[in-house]
Amino acid sequence: MNRKEAITRVAELTSSLNRHNHLYYVESNPEISDYDFDMMLNELQKIELEFPDLVTDHSPTKRVGGDITKKFDTVIHKYPMLSLANSYSKEEIEEWVNRAKKLVDGNLEYVCELKYDGVAIGIQYVNGKLKQAVTRGDGTQGENVTSNVKTIRSIPLTLQGDYPGDFEIRGEIFFPLDNFRKLNEQRRKNGDPEFANPRNTASGTLKMQDSKVVSDRGLDCFLYGVYGTGDLKPGHFETVQKVADWGFKIPSEKKRYIEKTTSVDGVMDFIMHWDEHRGQLPFEIDGIVIKVNQYHNQEELGYTAKSPRWAIAYKFKAERVESKLKSVVYQVGRTGAITPVANLQPIQLGGTTVKRASLHNADQIQKLDLHFEDSVYVEKGGEIIPKIVGVNLNERKPEAETVGFIDQCPECQTELIRREGEAQHYCPNEVGCPPQKKGKIEHFIGRKAMDIDGLGAETVDALFEGGLISNVADLYELTFDQVIGMDRMADRSANNLIDGVKASKEKPFHKVLFGLGIRFVGETVAKKLAKGLKSMEAISKASFDELVAVDEIGDKIAMSIQEYFLDERNRKIVERLIAYGLNLEVVEKEQASNVLEGKSFVVSGVFNAFSRPELKEMIEANGGKNVGSISKKTDFVLAGDKMGPSKLQKATDLGIKILSEDDFIALLNE
Ligand SMILES: [Zn+2]
Repeated sequence: MNRKEAITRVAELTSSLNRHNHLYYVESNPEISDYDFDMMLNELQKIELEFPDLVTDHSPTKRVGGDITKKFDTVIHKYPMLSLANSYSKEEIEEWVNRAKKLVDGNLEYVCELKYDGVAIGIQYVNGKLKQAVTRGDGTQGENVTSNVKTIRSIPLTLQGDYPGDFEIRGEIFFPLDNFRKLNEQRRKNGDPEFANPRNTASGTLKMQDSKVVSDRGLDCFLYGVYGTGDLKPGHFETVQKVADWGFKIPSEKKRYIEKTTSVDGVMDFIMHWDEHRGQLPFEIDGIVIKVNQYHNQEELGYTAKSPRWAIAYKFKAERVESKLKSVVYQVGRTGAITPVANLQPIQLGGTTVKRASLHNADQIQKLDLHFEDSVYVEKGGEIIPKIVGVNLNERKPEAETVGFIDQCPECQTELIRREGEAQHYCPNEVGCPPQKKGKIEHFIGRKAMDIDGLGAETVDALFEGGLISNVADLYELTFDQVIGMDRMADRSANNLIDGVKASKEKPFHKVLFGLGIRFVGETVAKKLAKGLKSMEAISKASFDELVAVDEIGDKIAMSIQEYFLDERNRKIVERLIAYGLNLEVVEKEQASNVLEGKSFVVSGVFNAFSRPELKEMIEANGGKNVGSISKKTDFVLAGDKMGPSKLQKATDLGIKILSEDDFIALLNE
């Protein structure tokens, strides 16, 4: 075969293999035998071996895997991947519907979908080719798992039809139960420990370095959420049908995996159907997702800080089992919170063996009127640790003793406190209690905080026990020689650790602030504080009034911040972090211009050239301000197609200037 013939044959085989792959994995309607398919694939592999320059990133041979990923790069999501608010009853669904109805004009349509118990993924296609696949991560940024995702047969490498030039599609990767059972059977034969549940195994599989292994495991995926195309269709349901034309495997309408309805009764019918029949599905689900269908309605409803107002999850009731309470132990968390944990007679629940259950706090123990050796009901909700929800009183022994609560910290023997209005007991010895000291460091290096490469909880534990570190500032004084002196520490790991610590100095201010682990200063609060007060110095010196003047900062948070900086030892740590060169102030984004200085904008509707988030970014980059709703103070409304009529009316009534996308571009160029 000469080169010219090879080029022709590669093209033929690629097209044929893509088509048969789609027929088999997406449409479940194969036209040729597995054997014939494998023969074609073998032929392509042989040609690629002979002419390596003809191998493309989108060759069907990529399905077999073989690419090794040493480290998964972090990618920032262009559109944040938000989570949904949860609901558990018909009443809550009704409430949600009523709230939505109040906020929009006209009648609402709802789309019901299965809530797949898998791993959320966002995949970018450019010019019809799969370019990048990123996990949800923390919602703001995820990991680039492209090589592994390419091995999932139902995800097209090359699109067909009238697809947009550049867009992202989102969905859920899951472990089909058949393949999961086969995998465990194989592991049993090999003497390997079996995997406990499909979701965690799917998540672990996606992060394996060898894509060949990923390919062999047989993950599957449904894709349904399209981003960055403007609105192709008026609603979500129609868009899902549309993307099937491009070759995506979408949830089947025929099998009732997705359904459109106009009433709460329709929604409840869907929920009840799947609550009863979910055991028969070839994959696991943990609930139902309900979305408002029409995009212009979605836009009108908008978002809360955490989740869209136009969608809600309905969670199925958890499975319940009965087991015997053996003992109660008390754990000390990184904030000093004391959590009672029940040790149970091991029992199967939701596909895993349960040995422990959370008891939350003293009130919970009292409410359950828990006695030793009680026979207890255990449920598994969304949490990893199951909880005790009740006691079977028929099984209680007459001489059984009540479970009390401890007075002293089991780690440092400090007298426990319980702050007013709080359910949890705390060990107040924040700076001296070992788990709290260690916990603060673990929190600091965590993925959502400083995300230090080469340093995990186990290593922190060893460093702490070895007396090399006792607070977060100590990390920045670690030397290679100290680290290499530890047990089981290889040269490379030691180097990685030192490099990782050094690299963390580049993390933005709000991550450092969150990393300090100040009580009540979570991720969002840290961002707000950073935005509002700009530097650690300003925050540490801020008066109570200055703190509560920051958006979303209440009394409780303000007091906690002041309390933190009152402690000399904390101030010392922060001073040291400054000295080591960490980012302890906000680095302002570069300003494109200030032509929109002092002008406020409401952006609404669907646009052609840019997405809404892009337009909002442009406004800020040019000195303007985005506001959520139209008021007298609004200067401009940037209106796209399908803007809600009530909004338009309001803008007109208030005499606010309405700009089209083109007007806006012209304004920027003035
Ligand atoms: Zn303690």
